[in-house]
This record gives sequence, structure tokens and C-alpha cells, in this order.
Amino acid sequence: MTQLESARAGIITEQMKRVAERENVTAAFVRDKVAAGHLVIPANVRHLHGSAGRDPQHRTGTAPCRLDPTGIGRAVSTKINANIGASPVTSSTDEETDKLRWAVRWGADAVMDLSTGGDLNACRQAMVDHSTVPIGTVPIYSMIINRNIEELTYDDILREVENQARQGVDFFTIHAGVLREHLPLVRNRVTGIVSRGGSLLAKWMIHHGRENPLYDTFDEISAIMRQYDVTYSLGDGLRPGSLADASDAAQFAELDVLGELTHRAREAGVQVMVEGPGHVPMDQIRMNMEREREVCDDAPFYVLGPLVTDVFPGYDHITSCVGATEAARWGAAMLCYVTPKEHVGLPGPADVKEGCIAYKIAAHAADIAKGIPGARDWDDDMSRARAALNWPRQFELAFDGGTARALHDEDLEVDTDFCAMCGHDWCAMRISKDIRQFASGKDAEFQPQQPAARSPGLSEEQRKFLAERDRKPACHSGGGRGSG
Ligand code: SF4
Repeated sequence: MTQLESARAGIITEQMKRVAERENVTAAFVRDKVAAGHLVIPANVRHLHGSAGRDPQHRTGTAPCRLDPTGIGRAVSTKINANIGASPVTSSTDEETDKLRWAVRWGADAVMDLSTGGDLNACRQAMVDHSTVPIGTVPIYSMIINRNIEELTYDDILREVENQARQGVDFFTIHAGVLREHLPLVRNRVTGIVSRGGSLLAKWMIHHGRENPLYDTFDEISAIMRQYDVTYSLGDGLRPGSLADASDAAQFAELDVLGELTHRAREAGVQVMVEGPGHVPMDQIRMNMEREREVCDDAPFYVLGPLVTDVFPGYDHITSCVGATEAARWGAAMLCYVTPKEHVGLPGPADVKEGCIAYKIAAHAADIAKGIPGARDWDDDMSRARAALNWPRQFELAFDGGTARALHDEDLEVDTDFCAMCGHDWCAMRISKDIRQFASGKDAEFQPQQPAARSPGLSEEQRKFLAERDRKPACHSGGGRGSG
């Protein structure tokens, strides 16, 4: 049984228990959310048991990693995905495996192998074998290696889906929602169809004068995915590629089909996420999140960014991080990172780190705003360390303590009661710490100069109250004379 089928049967699987432990919720809560389709646990049975690489044709020579199950849904903490993968122009399996490690090191909860160059089969298997986080792919990429899209047959599609499921891939982006009738709707767009999968399938449909082959074979694809418990990530082939095209008729026509496919996949026992836009102005993000929730029955929404402006190439990890924060706040369950290389090149390891950190910020900020249990505790610990000017503790708590430490040490190599930003005399944290020490009454120099009862401007009644209070001994609960 898949996780979805088990949950519907009332069974709590080991994977549900693990997700509950990681999210600090009960296993029954996880089961109920999975049963409703509002939370998915992408966990291919072959990745789960570390058996993916044991097929002779897929062996990579390494002992395969076992998946550490992750829950994706808006009721739990927001997840981030890192896209990696070789292009036909640059990179290799080894380089991509390094990027995978780097992405996980910097907090990626899931990784997609989007390779379109090199040995795709070997690279994919290496990703699965080296990963403890769920691995996703877009199977259509491999379907058109060594053939033109026009030559793609239904058999090619099902064969490749089976191949990748057997390799242990945990979730598939399947662009089954873009239909022939949608194609006229993109005619007036500024950036047309920007999804690789969407544009390839549009070409196939125009060439053959037939419906999207992924839509036509959807039930057969579902049967294969069910067998391995691969999760759908229903692709948004018509996502907007610019602010000008956001929230248009084409995008929402496809979303309606994704809603229909969500129900069909669930009926087949397959878990479903839905992919979302792209480029969206800030004021349209909430509406987009709420519309998906309604149309797709609260299936976990997995969004790319979205970028909230188009004019900062080189900084699109930031333009999209702003949109991702808003998206997560209003219900997106997983945020697909964008790196500084977006629109201009293939990300290297440093870009992967930049993208991951930007998206960890987005996810965490949204979790705080949503009141995800425990999300704020980390921040409060950091604030206490800051207030105490406890530098080692601050760097220990920092998400990237190494960078924070290096920046601190550039100007001041000692940990002391200030930093180089304001210097000793202007350090408000230090002054505030001194005030607290003094006000606590524990400071050796503490000598009240003027009892509060003698302060000018007090009414007679206040004066009597304070004089009475001053006569009582100070206590440690904060009620003493110095506490005010
Ligand atoms: S010197 Fe300024 S920036 Fe540095 S700890 Fe003190 S208040 Fe903060």
C-alpha cells in the first residue's frame, strides 16, 4: 500500500511516525492529513529501503542511502527544494553529486535532478543513492534524449516512468494539465510558455493534432507510480514567466485541470502535490495560494519562487525569496529555490548555497507568521544570546555561523561587549545590559539616589503607595524597588 492507502486504512506507518517526530506533532495527526491528501510523504519504496541502486543496470558502486522521510503540507513546517542537474553545456554526475551534498548541507528538504545533459540515467541514480532527502525528476526530459519530441510515443512515456520509478525517484513532475484547448490562451502572452515540459508538450500536440500524451496516459502513469509509491508533483506547464503573464486565463485553465487530476491520482492511491507559479506580483500571491487550495482540495502547493519583479537578474534568489515568503505565509507547502543564476546560467555550488539560504529564510519567516509550533523558539534563543553579548552562542545558533563569525572577526578579533558596528561607547546592547544589571539591584555600584516616592510630579496617593512599597524588602520575583 502507498502512504495514502495506508493512511486511509487507518494505519500509521513508520514514515508517518518519523514525520511526526520531526514536526513535533502526533503520528495520528500526520496520518489524518495524509489520508485527506493535505500532506504528502514522498518516499519511493526503493529509496526508503536503500534498494534502488541494487539493480544491475542501475548500480552505482556506492551503498545506497536510505531516505529520511519528509512531510510536505501547509499544516507542518514549510519545506524547500533545490533544483540541480547537468545541462548539455556544462557539469557532470560528480559535480552534481557534490551539489546535492551541498544543497542538503544548506537545508534543502528535497532535491530535484533536472539534468538535460550528460548521462541522465547515471546522474539520476547517483542522486537517489547519495540522498537522504526525497529526489524529484521531470521524466519527460529523459524521454526526448536521442529523439525529437514529435517522435515520442505512449510506450516511450510509460517505459521511462517505470525506469525512473524503479531507480527510486520519490516524486515526478508530470505536466499532464496543459491541454490542446489551452494553447490559444498563450497567444498574447509576453513570455509565452516558459516551462520546458509545457513547451515540449505543446509542440507535440500541435504536430500530432492530438491531446497531451501525459493527460491521455495519466491513469497508466498513476498505476506505475502507485506500485513504487512515487508522489505526483503535477506540473504547471503554463506557469507565467513574467509579471505581465501572471494570473492569466491560461494559468488558471491549467489549474482547473490540475484540480481534476488531483482527484484522479488520489483515487488511484497516489499522493499528489501541485506545482505553482513562477512570476507573480506581490499583490496577487495570496489570491493564487487560496485559489489553488480551493481548486485542488488543499493538495500541498509547491511553488517556484515566485519572483515579484522581473528587473533584478543576478539577484533573483532575493526577488523570489520575497514572493516565496508571502506564498508560504498564505499556504504554499514547499518552496522551490531560485539561485542568483536564474535566467542567466547554470548554478554552481556557491549559487546553490545562496539559493538555499534565501529560501530557508523565507520558509522560517513564514513558519513564524503561521505559528508553526516551536518555530519562534530559535529566534528567541538568538535574541537572548544577542542581549547577553554572548558571541560564541550567537554563532552557534546562526544558520550559517561560519559566515557570521568571519564577518565579525574581519574588524574585531576578540569577543567583547560590543562589535565594530557601533564601538564600545555607542553599543546599545552593552548599555542596555548595564542598565539591566544596574536595575536588578545586583550591581555593586547600585545606590538609589532618590527613592521613587520623592520623585516630583507624583500625586499624594501615588507617593503614599510608593513609600509603603519602598519600606518592604526587595524580593527576587521582580516586585522590588529596583524592578521598575
Ligand atoms: S556595537 Fe552596535 S551592532 Fe554591535 S552589538 Fe553593540 S549595538 Fe549591536
